[in-house]
Amino acid sequence: MTSELAQNDAAKPVKSNKPAKAQALTGVKGMNDLLPPASAQWEWLEDKVRGLMARHAYRNLRTPIVEPTALFVRGLGEVTDIVEKEMYSFEDRLNGEQLTLRPEATAGVVRAVVEHNMLYDGGKRLYYMGPMFRHERPQRGRYRQFHQIGAEALGFPGAEVDAELIVLAATLWQELGLQDVRLELNSLGQPNERAAHRVALIAHLEQHLDVLDEEAKRRLHSNPLRILDTKNPAMQAVVEAAPKLMDFLGEASLAHFNAVRAILDASGVSYRLNPRLVRGMDYYNLTVFEFVTDRLGSQGTICGGGRYDYLIEQVGGKPAPAVGWALGMERVLELLKEQGTLPEAVGPDVYAIVPDASALPVVFKTIQTLRAQGMSVQMHAAHGAGAGEGMGSMKSQFKKADGSGAQFALIFGGDELARGEVTLKALRDGAGAQEAVLLADVTTRVAEKLAQNTAQSQTVA
Ligand code: ATP
Ligand code: MG
Repeated sequence: MTSELAQNDAAKPVKSNKPAKAQALTGVKGMNDLLPPASAQWEWLEDKVRGLMARHAYRNLRTPIVEPTALFVRGLGEVTDIVEKEMYSFEDRLNGEQLTLRPEATAGVVRAVVEHNMLYDGGKRLYYMGPMFRHERPQRGRYRQFHQIGAEALGFPGAEVDAELIVLAATLWQELGLQDVRLELNSLGQPNERAAHRVALIAHLEQHLDVLDEEAKRRLHSNPLRILDTKNPAMQAVVEAAPKLMDFLGEASLAHFNAVRAILDASGVSYRLNPRLVRGMDYYNLTVFEFVTDRLGSQGTICGGGRYDYLIEQVGGKPAPAVGWALGMERVLELLKEQGTLPEAVGPDVYAIVPDASALPVVFKTIQTLRAQGMSVQMHAAHGAGAGEGMGSMKSQFKKADGSGAQFALIFGGDELARGEVTLKALRDGAGAQEAVLLADVTTRVAEKLAQNTAQSQTVA
């Protein structure tokens, strides 16, 4: 077979020796590159989250972005949007394994926790961030590769941990300055309570078969709870009148729900009870919640979560309770942008101007000491093809310095260097002011000037 192909290839006439111009390749639809300066906003968000998680004693867990397909089919439920139509699943050509790009991370977290027996000495509080993959129609707030940050507490049965996680998310919105986010809360009860409700729900929906759309009819016996989640206006009346799961909850489930609510009330976290909130995955029980905004059109859910006390067992672990949430980073950043409160990208502290390449050894030595003190320094480098060793005119270097957003330029001119000095020039506050600084004093002087700028911008703000 191979040799046959090779022979055919060899028989083809050679058209030209000149390599054809390569066709430009583009990224996969719905999967975005995150470029500077916007990528700084992602880092800002990640930093905020790391700080907050640390203060709540949640620790970072990193799992692979590829998992066995069976994990998601078993974990999320066969009749969910994700498993039915959104997963990137493929066979590993090299060994025939059935694999899937993770559409969410909870299943993988649970797999890892079980695989490494992490609950042997008690509950664990964990968080993750990273890309997820779902084959959906790309639109604002909905992508095929998107990014989630999630927090999971495993091994804890009590309502206080549900509340801790919700308060954690609410605190994050506060620290990010997110406005117009409301919390919707519901309880899905326990499997036996859901089973009783399900019988009543199916009976109700069967009385209105004429109103149900195709999707609802298909789900009538496989996943009727999801029908309550419908956005179809024609079905709203039937769905409103459906038996409420809340009315089927037993004493223990109600007590758990009320305990969560009591802590939220005491913590000043307001919420709206939404008896129709069901969430997209099958694994939830008891508390479920979503943080929703009206400012992002139909992609208004920025964070969702709940309790999943049976998932660990379902994935093959020793039964243990768990609760968690995941937020969509794109949607959080989009909401901040919509509000006009995304932090602006900041330039470096210092831009090093290098009139002549012969100064480079001194430049390197000096800027490394600045960087070692925590200052951010951008060094001028020769630009463009064929520029050779030439560093470019002073004018073009100053243009670059300005464009970089730097606070100060440090000019390593030949005359100054001969005197053991450099010139420090303000580019922003008091732009144009300049002074000669002894090379030996550069680090201290620049630090002083930067501190002055910071103090000034703080009194202005
Ligand atoms: P939706 O109802 O918007 O499809 P979902 O219920 O499928 O959301 P979850 O699986 O709960 O979403 O994921 C948690 C969060 O991840 C969502 O609230 C959302 O912010 C974000 N998210 C989910 N899917 C996408 C996507 N395709 N693109 C961008 N963000 C997403
Ligand atoms: Mg979805």
